[in-house]
Amino acid sequence: MQKDIATPKRTKEILDKYGFSFKKSLGQNFLIDTNILNKIVDFAGVSENTAAIEIGPGIGALTEQVAKRAGKVIAFEIDQRLLPILADTLSPYDNVKVIHQDILKADVENLIRDEIKGFEEVKVVANLPYYVTTPIIMKLLTEGLPLNSITVMLQKEVADRMAAKPSTKEYGSLSIAVQYYTKAETVMIVPKTVFVPQPNVDSAVIRLTVRDEPAVKVGDENFFFEVVRASFGQRRKTILNNLTSHLPEGKAKKAQIETALDSASIDPKRRGETLSIEEFGKLSDALLEIYP
Ligand code: SAM
Repeated sequence: MQKDIATPKRTKEILDKYGFSFKKSLGQNFLIDTNILNKIVDFAGVSENTAAIEIGPGIGALTEQVAKRAGKVIAFEIDQRLLPILADTLSPYDNVKVIHQDILKADVENLIRDEIKGFEEVKVVANLPYYVTTPIIMKLLTEGLPLNSITVMLQKEVADRMAAKPSTKEYGSLSIAVQYYTKAETVMIVPKTVFVPQPNVDSAVIRLTVRDEPAVKVGDENFFFEVVRASFGQRRKTILNNLTSHLPEGKAKKAQIETALDSASIDPKRRGETLSIEEFGKLSDALLEIYP
């Protein structure tokens, strides 16, 4: 049996064999620590009843550890140069399918329908390319996919914003967007030394457990997110100031916006960053009367 891919020695052998050079523009920082990989798979809770979707398998370090425990793994890789390498490194695993595609352009819903049948759960497990972390997460959350959870490595700073609570400096529209759809927990901080090449930023693993229903029931989802973005427009301004500045015709509708804040029991002098997701829900429903 071959040694695990994610050891410094075997990774170097694979990279040398294929003369592979890292592309920084594709966020290529490969993991070389099997313990960290196993912890990620533990946090994701992968079993033979799980179909796993991976984004960016690289040379297969994480794919291999997931494949040992999951029923099936489907991995999207954008870099064509990695396909022959993956065919080689993952040849011992017959439950892995690698798809050469940009995840942001992939029809994941169709893929789950066609390729993943009869599994109890579908989970995303990945060490994400950091240059596109947020677009990938937002795509996975907003396409209504039948996912149970998303457990991914990303920049610590982005994990902090996704899992942030109200009245912290990290709390903002990304926290609300992620927590509207999921329960977000940072489960591990990861040192730079477990990657080749080492990234410039600190890393963390976040687990997003997808909610059966969104965290708050709102009359109009798009308008809810518009109100959230408007409320965080300029962080030092009051919620009233932000709403009048950033909602359409806000200045002209100031009195009605004040009435909406009052009916949602929100002091107009508060700052957006102090509002809970439930309060944003109440506020956006109250504002819907002015913005039907
Ligand atoms: N999973 C491997 C590991 O942990 O060692 C590699 C992770 S590396 C941080 C990110 C991977 O994502 C690279 O293999 C890169 O080529 C790939 N990638 C970058 N952008 C992508 C995209 N838009 N769609 C799919 N894969 C992408």
